[in-house]
Amino acid sequence: MTYPVEQQTLSGWANYPVVQAEVATPPDREAVRDYVLKQERLIARGNGKSYGDAALAPHVLSTLALRQITHFDPATGIIECEAGVLLSDILQLVVPQGWFFYVTPGIKSITVGGAVASDVHGKNHPEHGCFSNHLISFELMTASGAVIRCSKESNADLFWQSCGGMGWTGVILSARFQLRPIRSTQMQQLTVRAANWEQLFAALSGHSDYEYAAAWVDGLSSGQHFGRGAAFFARHLEGEESAPLVFQEKKPRNVPFYAPAGLLNPWSIRLHNALYLRKKPPGEQTVDLDTYFYPLDGVRNWNRLYGRRGFVQYQFCLPEETAFDGIAQVLQTIQKSPDAPFLTVLKRHGARPPEAKYSFPIRGYSLALDFPRTRTVFALVRALDELVWNAGGKIYLTKDACSDGKMGRVETGDFGEGKWWSALRGRIGK
Ligand SMILES: Cc1cc2nc3c(=O)[nH]c(=O)nc-3n(C[C@H](O)[C@H](O)[C@H](O)COP(=O)(O)OP(=O)(O)OC[C@H]3O[C@@H](n4cnc5c(N)ncnc54)[C@H](O)[C@@H]3O)c2cc1C
Repeated sequence: MTYPVEQQTLSGWANYPVVQAEVATPPDREAVRDYVLKQERLIARGNGKSYGDAALAPHVLSTLALRQITHFDPATGIIECEAGVLLSDILQLVVPQGWFFYVTPGIKSITVGGAVASDVHGKNHPEHGCFSNHLISFELMTASGAVIRCSKESNADLFWQSCGGMGWTGVILSARFQLRPIRSTQMQQLTVRAANWEQLFAALSGHSDYEYAAAWVDGLSSGQHFGRGAAFFARHLEGEESAPLVFQEKKPRNVPFYAPAGLLNPWSIRLHNALYLRKKPPGEQTVDLDTYFYPLDGVRNWNRLYGRRGFVQYQFCLPEETAFDGIAQVLQTIQKSPDAPFLTVLKRHGARPPEAKYSFPIRGYSLALDFPRTRTVFALVRALDELVWNAGGKIYLTKDACSDGKMGRVETGDFGEGKWWSALRGRIGK
């Protein structure tokens, strides 16, 4: 059986770590089985948009040639496709027919397999949960080459272990899920500026008449401005029934080269933060789907701004009870360190099905931070791990490259703290 297998230099979106890997790109499930049976261990990979080492291993099975949308019913909004289909491909098909995702991350060039394996969340977690909430079933190829259809009713354990399981249970071949109806491609957005951490936290916790919410935090402001930022809320507009629905993707600008080392430093980040806040006028405005949901897709290769050394993204979620003080402590710890976060995004999260043990969000608040990779950033990450651990929180494995092993814990203990983590870092061994 022939299909592309080649040696590649590979990394996640954060360009750290970088590994040499054998990458197979099988075009159908027979070829997937052939490669799975040949390898002692491997990891499935979608479009490599996880930040750290989640989709890295010596042997990698790319799903990018599994690109068929096999079923779409415009009457019910149920869609089924192969794992390598990108969310952007689905949007082009379904938006003109009045459908959108219930849950979408802030990027559309990820695969459906990646959405399931990370059990991605969006800015509406309290209302609509994670991707798995709307997932009807998927087909999984396990290490023996068997294909198992998993749903909430059938092979339910495997279903829930795979949602957020980061590829640990096998290769997801296809997925079937429910879309949501929309009547407009326009969103109503509300921007609220906040002068300090109390105001920002209170703003994000309010405005429950808007489905979507996220906030940008100035991670470097201190004193009376500590924790200032802007909260962004949005809801779908109803629209005119006769108006055609078109998903208009903005033509992205490109960062053609890696920026010189040190371009993003505490000084330049402080300047950026001050300008960013000034550019966000408070009040309501109407924006289209692409502008609201996928602003970072507007700059292709923005990860090059961090230079060739790459960066480290750290995203953690704290329970409601510890979130206000815990996140403030994290920001204070960062401010005492030599490292500075460039992007700092706060989200609120709601309850989740009790079976969704591997999904990242817990009821509370998450903060995502991007740090240029410096010599000192690893020590900072370990210090943040301790704070998150002690506050009863967890990290998002799809962002991680260097956290302490114990942070891979799951609440059930069925793999044991830490053990699941090391299994995860090898995966699908027979
Ligand atoms: C700019 C940006 C914004 C983002 N915003 C969000 C956000 O708002 N919310 C959020 O939740 N995430 C967000 N992410 C993270 C991203 O959605 C996830 O990392 C997603 O899993 C990436 O999908 P991918 O296809 O690129 O998968 P990869 O990065 O290739 O893989 C990610 C994980 O999924 C596994 N996997 C992939 N395909 C399969 C398969 N077919 N079978 C089994 N396992 C598989 C891999 O083994 C790996 O563990 C963002 C990422 C970027 C770059």
